[in-house]
Amino acid sequence: MARPTKKEGLIFKIRDRKIIKMIDKNYPLPYVSTFFNLSTGRLVQIYKAYGQKEEKYAAQAAVTNAIKCGKLKRKVCEVCGSSKTDAHHYLGYKKKNWLKVKWFCRKHHNKIHSEKEKAEDK
Ligand SMILES: [Zn+2]
Ligand SMILES: [Zn+2]
Repeated sequence: MARPTKKEGLIFKIRDRKIIKMIDKNYPLPYVSTFFNLSTGRLVQIYKAYGQKEEKYAAQAAVTNAIKCGKLKRKVCEVCGSSKTDAHHYLGYKKKNWLKVKWFCRKHHNKIHSEKEKAEDK
């Protein structure tokens, strides 16, 4: 494969930033993967290349896999009962806590994270 031109390099950079943002915002990996038409393996590479915390990514991947093989079941949002939910790692992203999750819809999940950030800022 030829080296990307300067312009192509820039386009990749913008795309990669979007990918990292989405992962950080807890978008489900299969969703991000479909959105950018990239394999989850490639997403991991990009995420790592930008020095992001691998643990967070691994925690999400563990949940995705556990759901696929029936070890974990997606539940409705704890706040509003919406069935479109993401896993929230309420104990953090350490390996032993990978499958310790609560379920929230995007809106309430974002709310929890922004409240957490505010608390950490103090
Ligand atoms: Zn909700
Ligand atoms: Zn969360």
